[in-house]
Amino acid sequence: MDLRHFFNKIKSEILQKQEEQKKDPKILETKSHWIKCPSCDSMMFFKEVENLNHVCPKCNFHMRIGANRRIELIADAGSFVEFDGDLHPTDPLEFVDKKSYQKRLEEALHKTGRTSSIVSGECTIDNIAVQLVVFDFAFLGGSLGSVEGEKIVRACNRALEKNQGVIIVSASGGARMQESTFSLMQMAKTSAALRKLDNAGLPFISILTDPTFGGVSASFAFLGDIIMAEPGALIGFAGARVIKQTIGKDLPDGFQKAEFLLEHGSIDMVTDRNEMKKTLHDLLKMFYRDVA
Ligand SMILES: [Zn+2]
Repeated sequence: MDLRHFFNKIKSEILQKQEEQKKDPKILETKSHWIKCPSCDSMMFFKEVENLNHVCPKCNFHMRIGANRRIELIADAGSFVEFDGDLHPTDPLEFVDKKSYQKRLEEALHKTGRTSSIVSGECTIDNIAVQLVVFDFAFLGGSLGSVEGEKIVRACNRALEKNQGVIIVSASGGARMQESTFSLMQMAKTSAALRKLDNAGLPFISILTDPTFGGVSASFAFLGDIIMAEPGALIGFAGARVIKQTIGKDLPDGFQKAEFLLEHGSIDMVTDRNEMKKTLHDLLKMFYRDVA
């Protein structure tokens, strides 16, 4: 089946289902349960953790959150306008491993209601307008494919047109294997777009969340004027197990954790999720003093 036709059909079905679920009180009830912190094993009431934006009140462990939640956290209420939501991937190599790429895309679409691992758009942060790009790890491990690269470039172009900054929140396993070279090309393509932003004196703030790896950390995610990370986020290029096997040595405690990277000068700051919006606003104000 033609991929575009397929995506449009499934997307409208999913949107309809989501609308129906919102009206169903049973769905809300199922969220009223206890959950266990994956870090300190404390049992907590789901609502309590949800109110803290999924940060453990006992040990400050930052649990993974989806793209929509992230946008709610950063953007002023109701200010986010999505762009390029209709872009969808193609399967140029007709890639098949255990499953076909097309099958994986279909499953990801059913799971997330999206056609890519990125949501991009424009919003305000305490009344400062920016282009915001957010990864959704639930869509094929937040992998970087042609659509994701294109969305980042378009966000940069909009920022250039409107004299705005760009914020990218990464959560990604890296380049998307199923798109091979097409996927790797996005590393250069996004880096080039960010260079244009830099030449225009516009800020790019990169936020690294758990996990940020591979082709994403090896390209735009580490090109920020400011690179910040959430506490405890795992960030690197290859995974710790692969590195350990390659060098044949034990790795130091806290290796690839946000705090380790900060200590070694790879990133600029580690920021609590609940302080993120205020920090972004302070940084943007500092950058925009020169732009405005
Ligand atoms: Zn905890």
